[in-house]
Amino acid sequence: MSEYRALPSVDQLLTTLPDLIDRHGRQPVTDAARLRLDAARQAIREGAQGATEAARLPHLLAADLAAAAVTQLRPILNLTGTVLHTNLGRAILAEEAIAAASAAMAAPLALEFDLTTGGRGQRDDHLRGLLCDLTGAEDATILNNNAAAVLIALNTFGQGREAIVSRGELIEIGGAFRMPDIMSRAGTQLVEVGTTNRTHPRDYRDAISDRTGLILKVHTSNYRIEGFTAEVPAPDLAHISRDAGVVLMNDLGAGSLVDLSHWGLRREPTVAEAVAEGADLVTFSGDKLLGGPQAGFIVGRRDLIAQINRNPLKRALRLDKIRIAALEATLRLYRDPDRLAERLPVLRMLSRPKDEIAQQAARMAPLVRDLLAPHGFDAQATDCASQIGSGALPTDTIPSAGLRLTGAGGDAPDRLAARLRFLPRPIIGHIHAGALVLDLRCLASDDQLLTALADL
Ligand SMILES: *Cc1c(COP(=O)(O)O)cnc(C)c1O
Repeated sequence: MSEYRALPSVDQLLTTLPDLIDRHGRQPVTDAARLRLDAARQAIREGAQGATEAARLPHLLAADLAAAAVTQLRPILNLTGTVLHTNLGRAILAEEAIAAASAAMAAPLALEFDLTTGGRGQRDDHLRGLLCDLTGAEDATILNNNAAAVLIALNTFGQGREAIVSRGELIEIGGAFRMPDIMSRAGTQLVEVGTTNRTHPRDYRDAISDRTGLILKVHTSNYRIEGFTAEVPAPDLAHISRDAGVVLMNDLGAGSLVDLSHWGLRREPTVAEAVAEGADLVTFSGDKLLGGPQAGFIVGRRDLIAQINRNPLKRALRLDKIRIAALEATLRLYRDPDRLAERLPVLRMLSRPKDEIAQQAARMAPLVRDLLAPHGFDAQATDCASQIGSGALPTDTIPSAGLRLTGAGGDAPDRLAARLRFLPRPIIGHIHAGALVLDLRCLASDDQLLTALADL
């Protein structure tokens, strides 16, 4: 019993901790103190000394509160080599987009208010003109993400009806986005045509009936079927759907607004091309190659977009003002393609020449080595290969360079990876051939990495 008496009461403990209360607030310190006192009583029950437990309380509490104060969702360094990493938040935004989003958070704005007439406006109006200009489409509507865009389009044109899809395009895109599941939630009956590797025009024609609502073409974002293959090109599908009077939707996924080959990358179909090829509707993401915040777009025929906008799901899947502001600023950058790669981080990172990254790696290797040596690790400059990520150009890699971090023992890469994840600014690399590799393609400045590592 006497051992317990060595522990202070919660109130007594609080009077000795004015600094912690000042920093974190009375309630959080009280809650943390209760937990620590419970733990101390438990330790005494298991034979610990009261005085020892009491003496440890202040610094344990300080550590608990400091740990709890660290924001969970804090900036990290993405040195994985995957530029659009879905698990790391995909695109980082242009300064122009960040400024527009901040302004939208800080003050009221005419989101659904027409400043000319004083009457009601529509939130999509701020983006519709830009999207039509950039894609050549008649009209556009904006949703929470591309999964939502696909869902609402299927529900609008395929509920209680059939949607025809090639077996080679029944994709799963990570998590729970599987085309067949989305279809059933949209109330659409899936009609698979063709085979995994080959689908022909007659497969689509034979499947069309008076129950058909739409034909869906899906960009096979995250895999490629090679070898003995055949798919029906979009212009031919446009003829087939027009003859049958059904809607043709092309889900592009990453959907670039510009031809990436200008920046030395392989061509992905652009949204404007998909529109020109005759799709009635084209869906694509805002935070993949486009380089904006999470969003989904449907561009295409005005009468069809109007039908989608009347679907009650539109209200449930709409975008907030912060992202609309960021998107408007992002889309405006596309009006000046010459400076796009300077201003749009996704394109800047994707188009960074390997030589420049290799020079950075050579310059940084000795500095990083000095920071890691006291911890028993070494750093060497190395070649590596980046990826676009988010299902764009899945089989392509982009030559890159980085740092190869090694240490003694087979578990050295895992141990170092864990330590870098626990830094105040976590560093995420990837393990390859017995080393932790940090691809420097996405590193904005040498300082960012050196500062983060200095906390090791
Ligand atoms: C990524 C992708 C989606 C889902 O888009 P989100 O913006 O992640 O919701 C749908 N279809 C295709 C083909 C994709 O590549």
